[in-house]
Amino acid sequence: MSREQSQKGPDGITRVERELDRIFSNLGHGMYVVDNDRRVLLWNRSAESILGWTEKEALGKGCREFIGHQDDEGNQLCDTDCPLIATMGESHTIFAGTVWAQSKGEELIPVNVSCAPILDDDGNVVGAVEVFADMTREKEVDRLKSDMVSVVAHELRTPLTSMRGYLELVLTGDAGEITGEQKNFLEIVDSNVQRLKELVDDFLDVDKLESGRMQMHWEELDVKRLIEEAVETFKPQVQEKSLKLITQIEEAPAVTGDRQLFQQVVSNLISNAIKYTNEGEVGVRSGWDGERVFIEVWDTGVGIPEDEIGKLGEKFYRASTAAKTPSHGSGLGLSITYEIIRKHDGELRIESTEGKGSKFGVYLPQARERTIIRNQGEAPHE
Ligand code: ADP
Repeated sequence: MSREQSQKGPDGITRVERELDRIFSNLGHGMYVVDNDRRVLLWNRSAESILGWTEKEALGKGCREFIGHQDDEGNQLCDTDCPLIATMGESHTIFAGTVWAQSKGEELIPVNVSCAPILDDDGNVVGAVEVFADMTREKEVDRLKSDMVSVVAHELRTPLTSMRGYLELVLTGDAGEITGEQKNFLEIVDSNVQRLKELVDDFLDVDKLESGRMQMHWEELDVKRLIEEAVETFKPQVQEKSLKLITQIEEAPAVTGDRQLFQQVVSNLISNAIKYTNEGEVGVRSGWDGERVFIEVWDTGVGIPEDEIGKLGEKFYRASTAAKTPSHGSGLGLSITYEIIRKHDGELRIESTEGKGSKFGVYLPQARERTIIRNQGEAPHE
């Protein structure tokens, strides 16, 4: 710092301090600084315009008293999952994603939050800074997108089902004889109608899962049997692509789940492994690792670039490597898979190396733990 910069003005403030203050005040993102007790020490102008609390109202207050971050389900994060406490405890930056903040107008505002610790000269944590962006517009666009998808999917479902029905009548000869060439053409129409129907079904699944209208039929599932059945149905596709199928399906304790949704997860992972593998192997391994029931599906396919793995749960996201296969897809299957696994209190882990292959692992708690919860009167996560 030059002498000029460090020289104090008549108000006792240096030029650097004044410049920092100006930057802090005019930053486009909301920003505030807290001490170790999460009391607000600094509050910038954008924080005021996003949440409505003035600097005067915010300074000196505990942030949990007036901002009180919440998650999507309305759970308070201040005592259990506060990103400021996490950043101060772990001494590194925390990207908390989008949470909700209480505004002065008693509205909940969606904000994307990141927090970083503030250290003194000796490296001790003396507070933290939170930077947040207003996500109201993005949330609204998301909602409009979901609404539109839902309306379109519902409108398309009935005509598509009817088209398939009439096509079947013609193809089976019930509506009169057809020539070989007509049959070929109609089969192409039928397979495209089928593709459209699958897409519409995916849209409807996303809609139901997101809106919480998906009916879950909980029962104890025999994972080994379900995986064996799923693998069996994919054998023709594996053979058609001349891939090698490797399976290691071992006994596992039952899990509490919805049979149809569970089958959907396994089918999606196996069909993707086949779809995104041009040569080599596809493998399915399942069993009990001592803590959780696991199902791993791996392949020697095109893989996924490292920086894209995190985006696979997003709706409509297809990795750039998908183009290296002759595959079609909507990028909805994995977001549905993520959501179903979440509803089963499980976890999906993805490991992949571009050009070498991928492994998708599903890890689920065994039924006993969930059944006890249910017997205590609490329904499984829905
Ligand atoms: P899609 O309908 O495109 O197959 P998914 O939602 O099932 O959609 O998958 C999303 C994207 O994830 C795919 O488009 C593909 O890029 C990538 N992906 C999924 N599984 C694999 C895999 N086994 N190997 C490589 N990429 C995969």
